[in-house]
Amino acid sequence: MKYEELAEAYEILENSSKRLKKTWIISNLLKKTSDKDLEKVIILLQGKVFPSHDKREIGVASKLVLKAIATATGYSAKQIEDLWKKKGDLGLVTEHLMKSKKQNTLFNEELTVKDVFETLQKLSTLEGQGSVDQKVKLISKLLSIAEPLEARYVIRTTLQDLRVGVAEGTLRDAIAWAYLDEANPNYDDSSDSINPKDREKYVEIMLKVQEALDKSNDFGVVAQASRKGLNELAKIKLVVGNPLKVMLAQKVNSVEDAFKTVGKPAALEFKYDGFRMQVHKNENDVVIYTRRLEEVTKQFPEVKNYILKNVKAERCILDCEAAGYDSKTGSYTPFQHISQRIKRKYDIEKIAKDLPIELNVFDILVYNDKILLNTKFSERRKILEQIIKQEPKKIVLSKLLLTDDDKKAKAFFEESIKQGNEGLMFKNLDGIYKPGSRVGFMIKLKSAMDDLDVVIVGAEWGEGKRSGWFTSFTVACQSEDGFLELGKVGTGLKEKSEEGASFEELTNLLKPFIIEEKGREVRVKPEIVVSLQFEEIQKSPSYSSGYALRFPRFVGIREDRSSEDIVSKEEVEELFYNQRKK
Ligand code: AMP
Repeated sequence: MKYEELAEAYEILENSSKRLKKTWIISNLLKKTSDKDLEKVIILLQGKVFPSHDKREIGVASKLVLKAIATATGYSAKQIEDLWKKKGDLGLVTEHLMKSKKQNTLFNEELTVKDVFETLQKLSTLEGQGSVDQKVKLISKLLSIAEPLEARYVIRTTLQDLRVGVAEGTLRDAIAWAYLDEANPNYDDSSDSINPKDREKYVEIMLKVQEALDKSNDFGVVAQASRKGLNELAKIKLVVGNPLKVMLAQKVNSVEDAFKTVGKPAALEFKYDGFRMQVHKNENDVVIYTRRLEEVTKQFPEVKNYILKNVKAERCILDCEAAGYDSKTGSYTPFQHISQRIKRKYDIEKIAKDLPIELNVFDILVYNDKILLNTKFSERRKILEQIIKQEPKKIVLSKLLLTDDDKKAKAFFEESIKQGNEGLMFKNLDGIYKPGSRVGFMIKLKSAMDDLDVVIVGAEWGEGKRSGWFTSFTVACQSEDGFLELGKVGTGLKEKSEEGASFEELTNLLKPFIIEEKGREVRVKPEIVVSLQFEEIQKSPSYSSGYALRFPRFVGIREDRSSEDIVSKEEVEELFYNQRKK
């Protein structure tokens, strides 16, 4: 496929905020896509060049892209930077410059989807001496073949900042519209509405596509199967060893509200303050993933041993919380205490001894040949009780109370807090397991003074002694309209990395995600999640969320979380109104 066709679709997507129209545009593009290009187009539509389970990154900073633009257009880096400051987007800058470029087109070729995809993938493999020049060469070669509109999107994809707004739900629907006849929506452009022949059938098909996505966690695989028909789609299986998205919890503020959502009686469990682990066992193989589906097996050799020794199943997928504890007193410690274990690459055995964890198993998704996603929670728990041999401080089942009594629930909450946990989880006994969803089968109830998880969207270089570090960070919450700012934070970080989250550490984490620099300020891709404490929430016209945090301070970096896990604007609003009631 010519890249031009994709670029034209991107442009329409970028200029439209209507979800149905976007779905229509994508489905038409998919219909035209050959089998060979399908996976590439699906991935490029998501603004990436690797599928979600592949954690490789293009890893190219804006400075390097700037050089490539200079090489391809003949303009100086200074001229490009000045224009960047005016337009605020390097993609648009490149497009503009390509229209009046000083360099002649070197190649009389047409850019293809394959060229762009494979070249950008290649960037991630280049390392060491001479790699900067090689990367500049590869990007500038793409630009020298590209038309101006194509250049806009080549640059944005390289910087991992596509800005065309394709949500996962839109892509899912587009796949169904494109390939499954029964999901023909009869889209009407003039009224931007759909009118499927058989609505029930339409909904049923969408659910089937979603189910296939839940199992494979791979849009490419689902698109290929859908193209061959419903039979092929039904063949997609959950594979032990491949990560799947975890089910998320809704939040409530009282025991009464929790019961209202999950029904009575319910299973109440301690909410441990650790991090999520999805553990896959296939005979003697054990693979461990975080909530972001990053593989961390090597970092947790003791967990592998606990699983092999204490879990009686040939194959299974377990959902767990790894909770840190003090090796002397045995009491639970907060997440921040053990967070460094997630990224640690050396002295693994030593750190495992110094910062031990207890695996609290709370769910099971596959047991031998049975897939349990559609099995009731109460039955899943029963299986766990049968197959796990508990050993305190190594591997245990989450502590559970089955009750319909508000008073008992409140006492259980207090007990959990006293033991150093965050609060309680309430679980619907008949609830199924919905990967990636925040449906109301699982509810969290935490104490009021909880930390807030936010994502960093901008930062400012420090001055004087701290000039090599970012010292002030703009943080944001999530909303349907994207990420909205909540304020700036600079306190709570340490000077040195050995003492906890430091300026240096956060600077290094953010650097690869810089997408724009203006003077001392930078804008970064919303990737790094941090926990904050604050005095109070105020209304504020200065930030795009309409709210600001008063006296925010860092508690730590949440390496295990992605921007999908952060606080939402509605939750911020709720916190604002609740604090006023007190
Ligand atoms: P939150 O991180 O505040 O959205 O709360 C949900 C998280 O609590 C889950 O993703 C788990 O990592 C964690 N958690 C701790 N204990 C449990 C439990 N017993 N059941 C389910 N999740 C738990």
